[in-house]
Amino acid sequence: MNSPDISLVIPIFNEAANLRPLAARIGSALDVCDVSYEAVFVDDGSSDESLDILRDLCAEEPRFRALSLSRNFGKEVAIAAGLDHAKGRAVVILDADLQHPPEAIAKFIEKWREGYKNVYGQRIDRATDPKLRVALTRLFYRLLENFGDVRLPPGAGDFRLLDRQAVDALLTMRERARFNKGLFAWIGFKSIGVPFEVEERATGKSKFNFSRLARFALDGLMSFSSIPLKVWTYVGMGISAFALAMAVYYWARTMLFGVDTPGFPTLVVSIAFFSGVQLISLGVLGEYVARIFNEVKGRPLYLVAERLGGEETSAREVNNTLKT
Ligand code: UDP
Ligand code: MG
Repeated sequence: MNSPDISLVIPIFNEAANLRPLAARIGSALDVCDVSYEAVFVDDGSSDESLDILRDLCAEEPRFRALSLSRNFGKEVAIAAGLDHAKGRAVVILDADLQHPPEAIAKFIEKWREGYKNVYGQRIDRATDPKLRVALTRLFYRLLENFGDVRLPPGAGDFRLLDRQAVDALLTMRERARFNKGLFAWIGFKSIGVPFEVEERATGKSKFNFSRLARFALDGLMSFSSIPLKVWTYVGMGISAFALAMAVYYWARTMLFGVDTPGFPTLVVSIAFFSGVQLISLGVLGEYVARIFNEVKGRPLYLVAERLGGEETSAREVNNTLKT
């Protein structure tokens, strides 16, 4: 089989109601693009009827393929699985909930043909998001910008087109604590943003609640910055300098005014405070050690339980497929 021009990679977690409308919109949006394409749906361990619907869709449409992962591995890993199995000369990643309008892909392809290898969709509007989420997102980006080793273009997300060369670069990165937005920026290549309007989620609600987003943000910061590890040297130096100054102060006071026994509250408060500081720094160390532990175990990124549509099997797929 010749590789198609475009592979769509679509992560799916409990999106049953969105799949048919999505398939229809993909069809009408790409038919006007004058490209050959395939769609790789990655069922990320859905517990609703998503997989059954994918089964029907793949039977009806030869350009559709689907993988079903053995459990929910998270969107970042689902995207990695889709990239592993995409065969196109370029890959477009989009959400299944129709928040990423397939009609924007025509513009991506235009830029790709101009020679851009990393064409990212740039949200014009996040009015659909709650205020607190917007504020925290902004804080996260500011932290990453100041302390991380990647620069994320504002408004860029996972909705993007990647040239085969960029996809192959991403495939070499098998890290388990994945933060795709950072990886997309890290690989570089000639990049450009294409503005698009975020739509309301078609049906259902976002899979990312507050604690999941917080964990995701932590993954992003820790994968792309070692500042949280290093900062303790400076905190420690600051505290030591403060302790030294206190020592001098108490020595001088004792010399001048004699011994002053009370001081119990100061003692308790400072012991509690500095124990807290030490535990926080240990905790940060622990976060990194846990991530190192996860990486050195060298487990596969994901396991494929079932493949639907398409015939050929890639080498990587064999490696990742559950032996039954
Ligand atoms: N998704 C996934 N695995 C997960 C969570 C989400 O594959 O564990 C998919 C989901 O089905 C959707 C996309 O990732 O296609 C974006 O998810 P969602 O719309 O919930 O996130 P948001 O738009 O709020 O960032
Ligand atoms: Mg969404």
